[in-house]
Amino acid sequence: MIEVKNLFFKYNKSHEYAVNGISFDINEGEIFGFLGPNGAGKSTTQKILTGILPVQEGEIYLRKERIEKFNNDYFNAIGVSFEQPNIYGKLTGKENLDFFASMYDYPVQSSSNLLKMVDLDSAANKKAGEYSKGMQQRLVFARSLINRPKILFLDEPVSGLDPSNAVLIKEIIKGLRKQNTTIFLTTHNMTVADELCD
Ligand code: ATP
Repeated sequence: MIEVKNLFFKYNKSHEYAVNGISFDINEGEIFGFLGPNGAGKSTTQKILTGILPVQEGEIYLRKERIEKFNNDYFNAIGVSFEQPNIYGKLTGKENLDFFASMYDYPVQSSSNLLKMVDLDSAANKKAGEYSKGMQQRLVFARSLINRPKILFLDEPVSGLDPSNAVLIKEIIKGLRKQNTTIFLTTHNMTVADELCD
């Protein structure tokens, strides 16, 4: 599904590579565990694969086709849930999802279904800035599924969640795998990696 060959990346002014010649293949429908010590270059790699940082050196293939520049087809196919909850605090949970849904030019999942899925339906009309950390994290996770992504990038999806919500999110991730979603999962939590990753 995704093939990365000899990826290198240097931040401006840095003499050292943040990503130093990494290569890997991810099969369709696989939960690919992306593990490594602090500073190994995981976030940088994720940012390149989600189009936040440019491809400087190396090759990325999606379904055997080389990607030179990420386009809307690619962005339409991916979902992203990173650790830092980047939501609009003055909007309610539902308004946040509806706003992001409005950016897609094809039918997407309804915000009420998504909120129900992550057990936030009772907080749908509360301002997201007033959500707890774990609630914000679940909102970001729900947002990453709006477009029914074929490829889902998850960074520490259950850190900061209480045990029952961690189970809820892990069950959703397992369900997505059954639907053949390809999942790129970054984590330092070996139990999560062991339980979820192929
Ligand atoms: P962690 O497990 O701590 O999240 P990581 O594997 O995600 O680490 P990166 O954040 O990708 O690692 O960092 C890789 C290297 O790039 C590190 O040496 C880091 O100092 C450097 N780096 C990261 N972001 C920047 C930046 N914005 N500007 C300059 N250097 C950076």
